[in-house]
Amino acid sequence: MPSENDGIMVILSSPSGAGKTTLINLLSKQNNFKISISHTTRQPRPNETPNKDYYFINDDEFKRLIKNQEFLEYAKVFNNYYGTSRTPVIDKLDKGKNVLFDIDWQGADQIKNKNLDYKLISFFILPPSKEILFERLSNRDMKDKLIVEERMKQFERDVLHWINYDYVVINDNLDECYSKISNLINAEINNGSKDYDPEFVRRHIEKLTS
Ligand code: ADP
Ligand code: 5GP
Repeated sequence: MPSENDGIMVILSSPSGAGKTTLINLLSKQNNFKISISHTTRQPRPNETPNKDYYFINDDEFKRLIKNQEFLEYAKVFNNYYGTSRTPVIDKLDKGKNVLFDIDWQGADQIKNKNLDYKLISFFILPPSKEILFERLSNRDMKDKLIVEERMKQFERDVLHWINYDYVVINDNLDECYSKISNLINAEINNGSKDYDPEFVRRHIEKLTS
């Protein structure tokens, strides 16, 4: 059983571009929340800082970490490897810090299946519409139209994984979405009442997938 003093694990997943990195950065400003920094074999984006946004490593190094069983979870996403190393996460949780994970559905499944002794809350973030997702991806990955196209195609497959998450939240207005997630985390921690409408979510998913 998780001890009252342990931190909790908060996973945010989403189709690429829906805003989970932005939301995790906001959530991490709250006292006691720490981001789990992943390893990846992909190249850094111009605005990314090594060892802060990701540990950028090559394929050989990634394979070495797999072999040494250093990952809590890892997965191949868009032709690159991504993984969460176990020790820093467990250290933080044991010290009572809440850990934020920006990982895909494969990683979320792996962590859930481990049934660790820490409370876990999972969120799936959705864009308000496919048009707005396209706009956000185009603004972010301006130089690379191919990446935008690839990620829009992947959206159709990724969105289907919403069903395995505790909460699905729509990132239309950033502040409102942040408050929604923050309130749900607080309600989960304090056993408070939750402002969550599964029917609204279901209708939104129907709209996105029709
Ligand atoms: P993800 O991590 O899910 O791939 P990002 O957090 O990188 O997505 O967000 C994709 C882009 O959309 C970024 O340029 C970000 O600044 C922007 N963005 C995120 N949330 C919103 C929002 N609510 N309104 C407008 N733009 C947003
Ligand atoms: P990006 O390249 O846009 O930063 O991330 C691409 C995808 O990889 C996103 O869905 C992100 O959540 C996921 N991702 C990032 N780090 C990890 C990780 O450590 N493990 C897993 N499974 N996915 C990750």
